[in-house]
Amino acid sequence: MNIYLDNGATTKMSKTAINAMLPYMDGIFGNPSSLHSTGQAAAEALMSARERVAKLINCAPSEITFTSGGSEADNQAIISAARIGERKGKKHIISSAFEHHAVLHTLNKLKKEGFDITLLDVHENGIIDPEEVKAAIHDDTCLVTIMFANNEIGTIEPIKEIGKICREAGVIFHTDAVQAAGHVHIDVQDQNIDMLSISAHKFHGPKGIGILYSKKGIPLTNIIEGGAQERGKRAGTENIPAIMGMTAALEEAVENLDKNAAHMSELRDMLIEGLSKIPHSILNGDREHRLPGNVNFCFEGIEGESLLLLLDDKGIAASSGSACTSGSLDPSHVLLAIGRVHDIAHGSLRLSLSEENTKEEIEYTIKAVTEVVEYLRNMSPIWRDLVNGKKEFIIK
Ligand SMILES: *Cc1c(COP(=O)(O)O)cnc(C)c1O
Repeated sequence: MNIYLDNGATTKMSKTAINAMLPYMDGIFGNPSSLHSTGQAAAEALMSARERVAKLINCAPSEITFTSGGSEADNQAIISAARIGERKGKKHIISSAFEHHAVLHTLNKLKKEGFDITLLDVHENGIIDPEEVKAAIHDDTCLVTIMFANNEIGTIEPIKEIGKICREAGVIFHTDAVQAAGHVHIDVQDQNIDMLSISAHKFHGPKGIGILYSKKGIPLTNIIEGGAQERGKRAGTENIPAIMGMTAALEEAVENLDKNAAHMSELRDMLIEGLSKIPHSILNGDREHRLPGNVNFCFEGIEGESLLLLLDDKGIAASSGSACTSGSLDPSHVLLAIGRVHDIAHGSLRLSLSEENTKEEIEYTIKAVTEVVEYLRNMSPIWRDLVNGKKEFIIK
């Protein structure tokens, strides 16, 4: 049994994406900046990829910058908006407590430079209230950056409403759409988005490649200096094979989005129903406004790490939070942000699906998680105290 339920960390590349890359590693291997025809063939591919990607999110090709992934796109978006603000004497940024570290750590850096950062509450359901965004905007606000969908608990934020508020206030609105792209419909015009980050490896594309959309009129600040690639805003020879693989993967994901979402939501709902039957367990994140492939639970009296290792023994690849946080003993900042206390946040499990998962896999997983949770609880002194009434249950 080999069941992959960690698609929030990364996905397997699709055959379409792999096949789209191959010609650009072999025959069409040129540098798009070269003037000869080998280079120009690559330049043409790059141009067509930019057009195809722009169409998929409804923007102009000139508004697309290819980056090394979601982290770089987040960094560049936030730094760029901060520099624009700084020039106007506006040094206030609004974000949320449960953003990806690519956002939070960039904001920390700006804070040390003297920026004033407001992190909005995400409430117990993991949803940001647009009215609270509105209330937090001041005359000196230069940027609002709120993620489209959360990578750990899968909640989908009211992006269009937040975008509208920012637009009316004349504030740049960036969204980290890394978990959303290819899984939820994105239309930057309809959704009032000024800047948006995408990463290919979250929708069956290659790792190390991403997109930063920035609306016309928003000048980007370079994170990487060098040659004049990407209109001089992102130096470095373009990774053409990866760009072609990402473009094909995004097209495929968008084309099949509704069909895949329907299948994944069905499996997600089966999982949620099955795991809810485990006593003293709780679903993290809003039940309705969530990614079709995300399930995240806390089980009282359990260590997330032991749970993962025992599930791995049973052939199930899962996660206890984001891949970036695992390995450290700190509980997930996302779970703390939705109000889970340390002890509870430690006992978390994220199962993130892809369209390739089957009902049989889900049935097996429900059984396996139920067994492993029971096994671990039977060995746990904390669980004994809870059952004997020496400690009180937090999850009823
Ligand atoms: C994965 C992820 C990132 C980072 O993307 P990379 O391409 O791995 O750098 C950023 N934000 C979110 C929400 C993510 O899930």
